[in-house]
Amino acid sequence: MNETKSTCPYCGVGCGVLIESDGAQITGVRGDPDHPANFGRLCTKGQTLHLTASAPITLHARLRTPRLHGQAVSWDHALDTAADTFARIATEHGPDALGFYVSGQLLTEDYYVFNKLAKGVLGTNNIDTNSRLCMSSAVAGYKATLGADAPPACYDDIEHAQCLFIAGSNMAWAHPVLYRRLEDARRRTPAMKVIVVDPRRTETAEQADLHLQLQPGTDVALFHGMLHLMLWEGLTDTQHIADHTHGIEALKAIVREFTPRETARITGLSEDQIVQAARWFGGSTATLSLYCQGLNQSSSGTDKNAALINLHLATGQIGKPGAGPFSLTGQPNAMGGREVGGMANLLSAHRDLANPAHRAEVARLWGLPEVPAKLGKTAVEMFQAAADGEIKALWIACTNPAQSLPDQATVTRALQRAEFVVLQEAFDHTATANFAHLLLPASSWGEKEGTVTNSERRITRVRAAVPAPGESRADWVIARDFGQRLETRLRPGRPTLLPWTTPEAVWNEHRETTRGRDLDISGLSWQLLDHAPQCWPYPAGATSGQERLYTDRCYATDDGRARFAAVPYRAVAEARDARFPFSLNTGRLRDQWHGMSRSGSIGRLFGHTPEPAIDLHPQDMARLRLQDGDLATVASRRGSLVLPVRSSTNLKPTQAFVPMHWGPELVTGGVNTLASPALCPQSRQPELKHAAINIVRADLPWRLVAMAWCDESQALQLRQQLRSLFGGFGYASCVAFGHERSGVLFRAAAAGPASAATLAQVAALFGLQGERALHYQDVRRGQHRSVRLGMVQGQQQLQAVLLAGNTRAEAWLAPLLQQQLPAQTYGRALLSGSATPPGPAPVCSRQVCSCFDVSEAQILHALTASTGPADTRLARLQTQLRCGTQCGSCQPELQRLVTSQSLAA
Ligand code: SF4
Repeated sequence: MNETKSTCPYCGVGCGVLIESDGAQITGVRGDPDHPANFGRLCTKGQTLHLTASAPITLHARLRTPRLHGQAVSWDHALDTAADTFARIATEHGPDALGFYVSGQLLTEDYYVFNKLAKGVLGTNNIDTNSRLCMSSAVAGYKATLGADAPPACYDDIEHAQCLFIAGSNMAWAHPVLYRRLEDARRRTPAMKVIVVDPRRTETAEQADLHLQLQPGTDVALFHGMLHLMLWEGLTDTQHIADHTHGIEALKAIVREFTPRETARITGLSEDQIVQAARWFGGSTATLSLYCQGLNQSSSGTDKNAALINLHLATGQIGKPGAGPFSLTGQPNAMGGREVGGMANLLSAHRDLANPAHRAEVARLWGLPEVPAKLGKTAVEMFQAAADGEIKALWIACTNPAQSLPDQATVTRALQRAEFVVLQEAFDHTATANFAHLLLPASSWGEKEGTVTNSERRITRVRAAVPAPGESRADWVIARDFGQRLETRLRPGRPTLLPWTTPEAVWNEHRETTRGRDLDISGLSWQLLDHAPQCWPYPAGATSGQERLYTDRCYATDDGRARFAAVPYRAVAEARDARFPFSLNTGRLRDQWHGMSRSGSIGRLFGHTPEPAIDLHPQDMARLRLQDGDLATVASRRGSLVLPVRSSTNLKPTQAFVPMHWGPELVTGGVNTLASPALCPQSRQPELKHAAINIVRADLPWRLVAMAWCDESQALQLRQQLRSLFGGFGYASCVAFGHERSGVLFRAAAAGPASAATLAQVAALFGLQGERALHYQDVRRGQHRSVRLGMVQGQQQLQAVLLAGNTRAEAWLAPLLQQQLPAQTYGRALLSGSATPPGPAPVCSRQVCSCFDVSEAQILHALTASTGPADTRLARLQTQLRCGTQCGSCQPELQRLVTSQSLAA
């Protein structure tokens, strides 16, 4: 067995991993004990990476050869066709008729090549990335206040902080390993105060000393209100303001209006809560803010970021251990993309496209007379331009816009109208693949060489453990080979701008562009990086990277002074009204990642949240006469879809929440049908955290549910086949289940019974045919029930179930199948359609611990017999069931269950 050092490809924590392989296949993964981001820890997602790599389930879903209009073709033919098409469009319509949409999942070298290809070779700035949906407001916020896009703090600061201010981040789920460090720090420093700002009572908010459950989009008002109090109560650092900042007077004029009463009115918080937050923030010896999409994904995202940074500048909580504003990146290499300028408004090494001197510098570095001055289209704008016919060809790499962009109706129009859509991807089952004229197989995690940068500016080497399957190629190689073909067509006879033969050569060129910039890494060689991850800046002559910035209070502005941002408070772009009276929020699940193209391939990661649902407050559920599991039509101004509803007291009335992951691959329509494309005017980041919606009961009385264990190598194919049936129902979803085995669950609803042909199709897909399948059918009433039994270790067990019409028996047939319990004793009752079995019903319970497959029912059962203090009961529980003892992602939930049981007792 070999072990290869690399990083986890999911979130921006950037955990180091050791990939175990036999040289041909990835066989396991564990946390790298030497990596300073995680010191050996991994969360549920990181720990299951190997199951999404070489396992049969995903290997069968990998793209292996280029496909042009559905037919396998050679790489030469694929790239020549793409180059001919792009060159023709550039000649006929100009280079701005082309667009590149890339990804925060790409490595820095991939990003660099794409950026130079678009801006250098083609001469268009129409290159943007899904990081636009994730952190462009953080970039704009840093630049507006501190002068550079450089998060000033590092992970170690969590251990030095006395007050943690977590805004718009459910880091217990979204950045789990970093949250483990926070838990450790709290244990070591019991006096540490944790404030969480979030409209939802998330797992992170649940554990806070103070949860500020504000109204959606009112963060700027809260931060201004806190500054008002800090100024009033003398909690500001007047020396720091006088010596190192500009603009406090203009800001004072704005925050004067934000009295505690006015702030409470806008935010929905109590005055006491606002006062408490201001005192803890301003009165602490070290305050660290951790923030994420709740601030960024907003039509006032830049202002929210800047207003929070104002608090740090006013109190001097920056540039010292345990203090500073610290944005958490969602994606593994959003930072790397920012570094190489891989966005429509940026150039290499944090240079600005709008700055003529910066453009001239990059042109000189690239050996070009100029780089184009016209700002490129950002993510949402690029797809709008394609929908309008302005952009005629799209190159999409390593991302799934048909799932993740807001306003999916426009995205669909764009992908349908574009003359030529190229998708460079590892998997063939993403929604975007359906629209691609040309599919190019890209290598994936464990198969690539390069670098990534995590949230704390730490660059880590990414290494290949195994060869990529089939004819897959590295992303930067695909971009280079395409770009060189374009050069022969558009600038013949001139030396190539894309000459590299190794990722190291690409990285060296990128490194040279950083010389003298705020992210200067001219002193960091590939060999040094091979030895250990390093933070930037790392200028020539340095012996290590700089982990904490602005310790000298000299900011990255022309005069070294930071700027207070005198920003007004603006409400969300889309006001609620009588037609759309609910506010829709979106966010992450604990065990899933983005569009689920990787994490959603294995059943284990569905255990915690098995199926899609929209959360509503119980009062709203009662008012709408809805109960858990009922179907509701959810509509925004852009479209609608049907979702099951779920009651949640984590939300305030008139608010709704749906996880961002449920795309059209898993549920009819996909949640971003609803999302708003309203943009922050500075960062151009869309307001994915708020849309005004309406919710009404869906009249779809006829139901179908089918589930089966299946061959691991067939599971994803079966899901794709079932997805093709979605259009025949008012609601349909298809997910995976199973801890050690692979199961598929299909659910559908309609106004009336499905046709016999459709039922036969579903039954055939689930193998409900042949002598082992038993059937009951009442065609007149639209009732159909089938089960298939199989002998497993001497027992008859359910292998597949289909219930159509009356689906009440799912309540006990589903746990019977999924828990692999003996089924022979139930006999004919298996087809009875009864909601209860003869005899005791198997317990159906949600999974809490995904590492050891421990359910909520098992935990509650173990706790009933347990007495003593909460800590002792938790420790006893973990000894007994092992839950939470491996990755720790379920720790907050275990603590909540222990506490709620204690309170109940
Ligand atoms: Fe991966 Fe989890 Fe670490 Fe994020 S916290 S990098 S998802 S292991």
